[in-house]
Amino acid sequence: MTDLLNSLLLQIKQTGPITVADYMNICLLHPKHGYYSKQDPFGKKGDFITSPEISQVFGELLGLCLAQNWIDQGMEPFSLVEAGPGRGTLMADILRATKSVPDFHKNMSIHLIEESPALKKIQRETLSNFCVQWHKSFDHLPKKQIYFIANEFFDALPIRQFKKTKTGWSEILVSQQENKLIFCLGNKIPLTAIPHRIKDTKLGDIIEICAAAKPIMKFLSGQIMNYGGCAIIIDYGANHLKGNTLQSVKNHNKINTLKLPGNSDLTAHVDFTELTKDLSNILVTKTTRQGTLLKRLGIINRMEKLTSNLKENQKIDYKAAAQRLIEPNEMGALFKAIALYPSKLTAPAGFDL
Ligand code: SAH
Repeated sequence: MTDLLNSLLLQIKQTGPITVADYMNICLLHPKHGYYSKQDPFGKKGDFITSPEISQVFGELLGLCLAQNWIDQGMEPFSLVEAGPGRGTLMADILRATKSVPDFHKNMSIHLIEESPALKKIQRETLSNFCVQWHKSFDHLPKKQIYFIANEFFDALPIRQFKKTKTGWSEILVSQQENKLIFCLGNKIPLTAIPHRIKDTKLGDIIEICAAAKPIMKFLSGQIMNYGGCAIIIDYGANHLKGNTLQSVKNHNKINTLKLPGNSDLTAHVDFTELTKDLSNILVTKTTRQGTLLKRLGIINRMEKLTSNLKENQKIDYKAAAQRLIEPNEMGALFKAIALYPSKLTAPAGFDL
């Protein structure tokens, strides 16, 4: 039994079932026992691997994409912001690739949004050559042009789940039975409580709502509208999601979501329609497959260049990593990207408009 399981069981016995959002929040970010708070979960030896950890070209191409958009928008002083930077690998790759873009580094201040003390420590080491400011939330970011990136950040934000029943929506809650965590249904709420999901759902359907994403998207769109810049968001998910997408991963395998609280990763697919709904006065690109985006940004050529002086077996490894990022049956199709950018200005390169 994990430490966190004990404390969750106690809490539920004392004060009753908790929402899936509270469960995710506690499992991922509990100050002592939270999955991200206490450890580095990435890589072959960890529980899962992300695109920047697979290949440096991911961050290099996205960095140059941001830099091109910065040039298109007049080369003003700006904040380079990443949310949920993990080990800092994506930011390090962006910074290396943009070093040769004239004046880019001179005009930039770097900001990372991170909750986990363990990962912050690793980011500090990865980015030790740069002046970086860390924030726990978006509130204190500078009021200037922003170039924002987030890979697999929004999937870690807590979601609430609702099931459509004959009499209304019921919230799915986490409860306990005989010292084991179980899911149960909470009180009914009126069908009209989730008005935008009345028409496209039928009895028994589950929908998910990520309330935590809303203020972040509002902040980003406000910042882009007022000061310019752009935001690139990459994650796995789709438009108009339906169904239970909560998943838990341990040692690169999916496991029961209630089995190892605090010791396994817990995520939910990102609903890009919901994420970008109601954003006014800025433009949002269509969701673009990761594979399509990276190919348009030149991943094949970049790989050829990067590997031209390597031995044959090394070439194979590098190219296999790039293929993993773009192949539809690997990460190329499930992972999608969107960009937010100012009205009347050019969208970042590579996105479907
Ligand atoms: N972007 C990285 C890591 C993705 S994992 C990569 O692609 O490799 C999710 C990251 O988001 C971790 O750094 C985690 O600590 C951070 N995170 C999760 N929830 C957060 C929250 N509510 N606020 C800030 N950071 C959060």
